[in-house]
Amino acid sequence: LRRTSVQDLLRSTELDREVLVKGWVRTRRGNKYVQFISVNDGSGFNSIQVVANAELFPEEKLKADGVDNGAAVAVRGKLVASQGKGQSVEIQAEEITVYGTADQESYPLQKRPKDQKGISLEELRKIAHLRPRTNTFGAVLRIRHAMSFAVHQYFNSHGYFYIHTPIITGSDAEGAGQMFRVTTLSDTKPPLNEAGAVDYSQDFFGKATNLTVSGQLEGEVAAMALGKVYTFGPTFRAENSNTARHLAEFWMIEPEVAFFDLQDNMDLAEDFLKSLVRYALEHCPDDLQFLNDQYDKELLSRLKFVVDNDFQRLTYTEAVEILKSAKQKFEFPVDWGTDLQSEHERYLVEKHFKKPVILTNYPKDIKAFYMKLDEDGRTVRAMDVLFPGIGEIIGGSQREDDLQKLQQRMQEMHVPEEDLWWYLDTRRFGSAPHAGFGLGFERLILFITGMANIRDVIPFPRFPKSAEF
Ligand code: ATP
Ligand code: MG
Ligand code: MG
Ligand code: MG
Repeated sequence: LRRTSVQDLLRSTELDREVLVKGWVRTRRGNKYVQFISVNDGSGFNSIQVVANAELFPEEKLKADGVDNGAAVAVRGKLVASQGKGQSVEIQAEEITVYGTADQESYPLQKRPKDQKGISLEELRKIAHLRPRTNTFGAVLRIRHAMSFAVHQYFNSHGYFYIHTPIITGSDAEGAGQMFRVTTLSDTKPPLNEAGAVDYSQDFFGKATNLTVSGQLEGEVAAMALGKVYTFGPTFRAENSNTARHLAEFWMIEPEVAFFDLQDNMDLAEDFLKSLVRYALEHCPDDLQFLNDQYDKELLSRLKFVVDNDFQRLTYTEAVEILKSAKQKFEFPVDWGTDLQSEHERYLVEKHFKKPVILTNYPKDIKAFYMKLDEDGRTVRAMDVLFPGIGEIIGGSQREDDLQKLQQRMQEMHVPEEDLWWYLDTRRFGSAPHAGFGLGFERLILFITGMANIRDVIPFPRFPKSAEF
């Protein structure tokens, strides 16, 4: 007898046949005549109900065998129509095998009595290794999977090539100094140079290296040969900020396209985001419904709204005018030339326009060196996509394709040319206009799941002082 997944069984219309499922017990309840065991195998949100009659399975025996919350089991039995509400089928158990029990006293996810609060998301963060067993994290992880797949499907069907960019780099793409150093030098006695600083020329690569903060620069290199490319990989930032939107290790999706300008880039970003949200609505209905009911009653309507409405497009300068005349008091005042904080971004999206916003043409001084300078010499062809509940979800730009202007910008921003000689070659030989952006994968998952904290949408969150791992 071959094992069937719970989701396949729940959809099955072929009844009164012998089936075998393997999974984990979520609950066991009942009386001395009959016990109901709900079994989840991870294949989807819903569990299947197993009915165990007392003649074959006395309650005492189930208890003694450890058929309780958290136990890994195999159930063989007959698939029959269910009288219970909310389910069409159930299994009439004939044989229950226990692979591994979970001691009900010490199991951290044991069901708590009705008068006690369930385990909180904060508590669950401390046991990231057990979180996937909860309804919430099961849903989040399946949605993460679906979104990864949708990303690749979107780009593949639009003629993009998936490029693997390196994790270890010798440059700081963003110039924000948020890098984690990679070194094999001794902690206690590193070699020193004449100036008394650590001598990285004696390190593994013969220079100082870091974990990548973005795959963009290498993505640009690939776009200058393959035309339409994207990367989708882990990135690392030593963020000091302890916010609900920043992680030290997160995944980024970065398309880069030759012969694209800022308009094309905005069109791509909007179409891409809408198609990802549409994919989630189509492929994750059970998980989304649960998250909607459990955490955020407006989740589904917000997702549908994004799919059905055009994003608002305006310049940074126009946005600053709106923010300056806003009645709302901000913690940080806004003035032309300052970077927008999440409170400003969310005001524009949630209060003013009440829809996603794309802001463009930011002052050059608050953006990275590689963005194309506007004719006015003060702003660059940047774009940030702002989403409700999130603020910035995408940062992108048309890139500076003129060698001299790029070198000038690097000097102004103190980006050493010797670190990026290979990057400058793309402007020396066959330089072409091009544009791209970075979508923070976890911010996308935050939006789609409606979760409030970015630490709850990645399996193993890394953040300042997260010393649990
Ligand atoms: P923020 O202003 O929120 O710090 P950023 O402007 O520094 O973001 P970019 O360099 O533009 O970020 O990176 C592109 C995208 O990567 C962002 O729009 C965001 O979605 C995501 N991102 C950036 N930093 C983080 C982080 N620390 N954790 C999770 N996602 C991030
Ligand atoms: Mg940042
Ligand atoms: Mg930003
Ligand atoms: Mg940004």
